[in-house]
Amino acid sequence: MAGALPATFEGDVLVPGEIEYDAARAVWNGAVDRRPKYVVRCAGTDDVRAAVRVARELGLPIGVRGGGHSAAGWAVPDGGLMIDLSRMRGVVVDPHERTAQVQGGALLGSLDAATQPFGLGTTAGIVSHTGIGGLALGGGVGWLGRQVGLTCDNALGYEVVTADGDLVRATADENPDLFWGLRGGGGNFGVVTRFDLRLHDVGTQALVAEVDLDPAHGLEPLRAWLAAADDAPRRATLIAEVRAGGPLTLGFVWVGPPDDAAPLVAQLDGVGAVLERRVAPISYLDLQRQSDVGAAYGYRRYAKSHYVRELPDAALEAFLAHTEADVGAASLVQYGGAIADVDPGATAFAHRDTRFEYDVGAKWADPAEDEPHAATCRRLAATIEPWSKGVYVNALGVEGAAGVHRAYGDATYARLQALKTIWDPDNTFRLNQNVPPG
Ligand code: FAD
Repeated sequence: MAGALPATFEGDVLVPGEIEYDAARAVWNGAVDRRPKYVVRCAGTDDVRAAVRVARELGLPIGVRGGGHSAAGWAVPDGGLMIDLSRMRGVVVDPHERTAQVQGGALLGSLDAATQPFGLGTTAGIVSHTGIGGLALGGGVGWLGRQVGLTCDNALGYEVVTADGDLVRATADENPDLFWGLRGGGGNFGVVTRFDLRLHDVGTQALVAEVDLDPAHGLEPLRAWLAAADDAPRRATLIAEVRAGGPLTLGFVWVGPPDDAAPLVAQLDGVGAVLERRVAPISYLDLQRQSDVGAAYGYRRYAKSHYVRELPDAALEAFLAHTEADVGAASLVQYGGAIADVDPGATAFAHRDTRFEYDVGAKWADPAEDEPHAATCRRLAATIEPWSKGVYVNALGVEGAAGVHRAYGDATYARLQALKTIWDPDNTFRLNQNVPPG
């Protein structure tokens, strides 16, 4: 293998038995246990080009590892070649142009840490050890989404290593078809070595407001709170959460001066008889890290998700009934605002009219619990499914072709398939939520 790589290769290659091999193949979901033949840790774009070419020469399936957060473990190819981007985590901010150049393996925390000293930011997810790579390519949802759009809505350009090992740029003017597909189409079209992102003046302040209620009294408060979403300011993202044996939690995350959130806090306080109340300002950086520990690496995981528009009482009752399960936590997180401003055909992320994302998931340590816990999550998600209008591709598990169709809908899927036929006709990049060539 080493001989197949050019002399200019600057990264390193790990094979089974080497000290760092097991750490390199471990991903966020501890239930993923796959053994690549080679882990190629690239030091830069030319290394990525070489790795793609070598994998094709050797006939090895390619997995691309950004942050390693794909719950399905797409990054780790059994018996294949893993292109590991963990040495490519640089972020360079231009505060005057309000842009960031982000390497393909960067984590969200690096982006926030680089932009916040200037009071700048752009939408990223809610756990700082998630990779920009997978997140942005699937769309990219976060607390700023309703203010400034998805991560992919803020992409100005991409540097991509294609299936032939060529390096191309995709922007609104250069390869615009590819630019469309990279904004939601996942890892189907190549390895992105650099994302150019637009930044915004988002300040450094935020606020988290939550109240716990008795789920037995929850239908009316839940209905009222979700209805409040329609008029909520874009700085706010409304949330409802339930967990097995726990309360109903209603609340919102606010990015901006905390005092400006006072009317919405008052509305939350009036929502019903409260068991516990937590309302606190927080810095945006701390907000972005506050879920890191709960979302730690290594646990075994299962999750299932739906996009919903309408939530009649029967759906709300099904959501509240999650508290009676023996495992699992579920949430409804608001969309809309700037996410919905974008035309559904403008990017490969198509679900612009989503009102809420529903997610249910569980984590555990004992492999013997894999099947029962996954079955419980599937059963709970099935109670919400009648109102499902699709699914976020980055929240999709291993759900086959039907799942990928659900993530894109017919029109976007057909367009992605045509694009795949142009840019990756041999389906070199297939270890992902795959759209095979037409
Ligand atoms: P990886 O497992 O490294 O990669 C997943 C796939 O993405 C790869 O197989 C590959 O196909 C592709 N990929 C990754 N990097 C590149 C690249 N540079 N070039 C080409 N292809 C690439 N999503 C949100 O939108 N918002 C959230 O707030 C959010 N929170 C999350 C929190 C947790 C704890 C977890 C586990 C996931 C969360 N997600 C969220 C979902 C997340 O967007 C996906 O799991 C995404 O795939 C993670 O990207 P990654 O690079 O970390 O994953």
